[in-house]
Amino acid sequence: MKYIKDKAIILSTRDYGEADLLVAFLTRHHGKVAGVAKHARKSKRRFVNSLGTFNLVEIEYGEKAFPSLVFVKKAVLAESFSMLRRDIVKLSCAGLVAEAIKEMVPERMVQPEVFDLLFGTLTEISISKDPVSTSCLSLWRLIVMAGLTPRLDLCLVCKKKISKNGIWYFDPVTGGTVCKDHIDNKKAASSLISFGIISLLEKARHVEIEKLWRFKFRPEDRDVVLKMLARYVEFHIEKPLKSMNVLSQIDHVI
Ligand SMILES: [Zn+2]
Repeated sequence: MKYIKDKAIILSTRDYGEADLLVAFLTRHHGKVAGVAKHARKSKRRFVNSLGTFNLVEIEYGEKAFPSLVFVKKAVLAESFSMLRRDIVKLSCAGLVAEAIKEMVPERMVQPEVFDLLFGTLTEISISKDPVSTSCLSLWRLIVMAGLTPRLDLCLVCKKKISKNGIWYFDPVTGGTVCKDHIDNKKAASSLISFGIISLLEKARHVEIEKLWRFKFRPEDRDVVLKMLARYVEFHIEKPLKSMNVLSQIDHVI
């Protein structure tokens, strides 16, 4: 069996059989991988609580054991982001980003920038007073990295340029912004987007990850942006994001 060592962030785990764990993780150099950690629920020596969601680990896995699943041999905890685990909003915001990565990133597609984005997101959410803005910025960059950047500079129907004075809407199906003359009336109330949000997203599109977290959405804009980006992701993955349901049940978040 060929063994690979890499840095990885655990995206999710679930029980598998009597004593095993099914683990999805994002490596820095080998993309997103799914594997089985044999006897992980009993083996203290090989895993020592390292396989919890969001943990950064030094992982070692072998390919061959199963057709699509790798065999996780060892995982050593490097960082547990313990500060984000003490706060339900932080935990749920991190969960949303991890879920979006799990659903959007194809297996084995090598994109170190997605790993760096997730590492940066977990680090920032741990210390941030505004984890909702952090998860918005992270979802936005994930959309850009996935090659799904929506057009936000004009009405996609009549080509009218976005300006401060107009009324604008975001329509995932059309793939970006539309003006008030070209939004479906049924969608209008839930898709209004301000010029300020559009400008911030455009600025945050290419900035280095370390500088991304300087952007903050206004408190009244946060839930609009989060819902808008989540709806856009859901449109592309063709299913709801479970974490949005969790966030909607926490008071004063969205
Ligand atoms: Zn138009």
